Amino acid sequence: MNANFNLGKIKGIPIGIHASWFLVFFLVTWSLASGYLPQEYPQIPTGVIIILAVATSLLFFGSVLFHELGHSLIALRNQIPVKSITLFIFGGVAQIGRDPKTPGAEFRIAIAGPLASLFLGGLFGGLYLLGQHIPYLAAPSLYLMRINLILGVFNMIPGFPLDGGRVLRSIVWKLSGNYLRSTQIASAGGQMVAFGFIAFGILSVFNGQLLNGLWLAFIGWFLQNAAASAAQQVNVQERLRGSTVAQAMSRDCAQVPGLMTLNQIVQERVLSRGQHSFFVTDFSGTNIGALTLQDITQIPQLQWRFTTAQTVMTPLHKLVTVDTDMELLAALQKMEEANLTQVSVVDDDRLVGILSRENIASYLKLRSALKM
Ligand SMILES: [Zn+2]
Repeated sequence: MNANFNLGKIKGIPIGIHASWFLVFFLVTWSLASGYLPQEYPQIPTGVIIILAVATSLLFFGSVLFHELGHSLIALRNQIPVKSITLFIFGGVAQIGRDPKTPGAEFRIAIAGPLASLFLGGLFGGLYLLGQHIPYLAAPSLYLMRINLILGVFNMIPGFPLDGGRVLRSIVWKLSGNYLRSTQIASAGGQMVAFGFIAFGILSVFNGQLLNGLWLAFIGWFLQNAAASAAQQVNVQERLRGSTVAQAMSRDCAQVPGLMTLNQIVQERVLSRGQHSFFVTDFSGTNIGALTLQDITQIPQLQWRFTTAQTVMTPLHKLVTVDTDMELLAALQKMEEANLTQVSVVDDDRLVGILSRENIASYLKLRSALKM
């Protein structure tokens, strides 16, 4: 989930908005202005209602952000980097740099979000009680109290990737000592919850609640995807277990000059010689970076003619190195933490090849083809 609009940083974490968020913002504001506010507080004039609806809607998203900040700040406190927080159609998502290394840390990070929401729910509840006779204050407070309580409770449903699923995973992990097994259990829970949502959504559609039903089914579908991909990720981890970098890396890294265009590389190297990974050299023949097919395909094809290898490559100083006998899984995690598509492989301090995500994928494909 990449943000389309950046709002700035909090504690060094970039906060962004995905385009799909505007749709929800509009729908929430609309339902507040045309439903909840005039129905519950008919004495408020229309002009004020619109202002209140926008403000309440903004505070709603502020509440979602607060929830994600809850996770993020506890992650930072556990020395886990947070790459970004993005608000999108289903709420918010904090991109935590890596999975926590202990069940305790996982538990604290997971539960911090719902606790933050319940705290805000209490705060707005208090505000509601204080301002009961002031409709301008009572109307948004009551709404925001409900929303935050729902956010807190809904997220504690024990199905991965919901917070409750992470809490469940941390508990099973603590009890069993087995991270992979606990993820499988939590994501199985997640898929059950997801199918429950879908079934309930379809049922609601048949009961005449078209929009609510579709919305529930849509959330279920989203959860199902997330739970399945978590299960798949664990599956990959399990299959990579025991393999080393040497088994998956590409050793036949060709050299390409830094000024060669992507178009030339694709024509003369990839298509005619089947080369996929390259060391990029400067005019004196020294390696200045690494380039893989994946880097090339991330650039729109129309720009290949004008884009040189050295503008797309991962420069040497940014290249993370791994050892040939390092566990493949550890290398992949290193790659993910650094947000890279490839790392360079060294053997006795000598650069001997490149390991890319592509290499790992084809290694897995090879193994499943050989049924090993
Ligand atoms: Zn959460």
